[in-house]
Amino acid sequence: MNDIKRKHNGNIEELAERILTSRNAVIFTGAGMSTESGLSDFRSKDGIWNVEDPMELATASAMRGNYDKFHAFYAARFEQMGDAVPNAGHRIVADLESRGLARCVITQNIDGLHSEAGSKNVYELHGSVGAVRCMECGKSSTRRDFIDRKPCAVCGGKLRPGVVLFGENLPVDVLQASFDASEASDVFIVLGSSLQVSPANQMPGAAKRNGAYVAICNRDITIMDSLADYRTSEGIGDFMTKLEALLD
Ligand code: ZN
Repeated sequence: MNDIKRKHNGNIEELAERILTSRNAVIFTGAGMSTESGLSDFRSKDGIWNVEDPMELATASAMRGNYDKFHAFYAARFEQMGDAVPNAGHRIVADLESRGLARCVITQNIDGLHSEAGSKNVYELHGSVGAVRCMECGKSSTRRDFIDRKPCAVCGGKLRPGVVLFGENLPVDVLQASFDASEASDVFIVLGSSLQVSPANQMPGAAKRNGAYVAICNRDITIMDSLADYRTSEGIGDFMTKLEALLD
């Protein structure tokens, strides 16, 4: 904590000032954004990846070779996500966009909670829980049908989640739009990401190189902390509530 404070001279008032004079603030979110909605993150001590082996389950080869286990894993996660509701952080992020203070949200999350909270311009780098489709013909279907293990209504094929699995590429158009928005941003705010996954973790750097003010709110240290003009490890709900109060 002391190290963090010494390194970064910015403060939340300065961040608020930058947002108020900004035209292109971008918000980037990771799994930590949704822990306050009761969803597990991945890489922390109690995270999903410490209970399940992602290389065994969340892969394109598991989907093809071991559909039963693959399906059980995602069906359980999708049930959990279906019950989750947006938290204060999601709501404030949506509010910033509707007030014209933020241009878009780039998210690593698949839970759809930004859209549910009212964010309109959301770039979902890893796809979305709401986007189920047929493995064979690509026809779109519903989250419920996937959980219930219904076959594709058109060809009878198996359904798959519309999320990016290990071994699959990120959607090119979403990735390009995210980098474009990052490079054009004048304020770049990271919420709840450990910034370990490439290429998404290059976005704060892309923003910084073009002169953006970079703020990082994450419980644990991140490898991009040295880029940050403002850095905090407090909870996202608390941080965003304080920030919002300064934007009146
Ligand atoms: Zn089909």
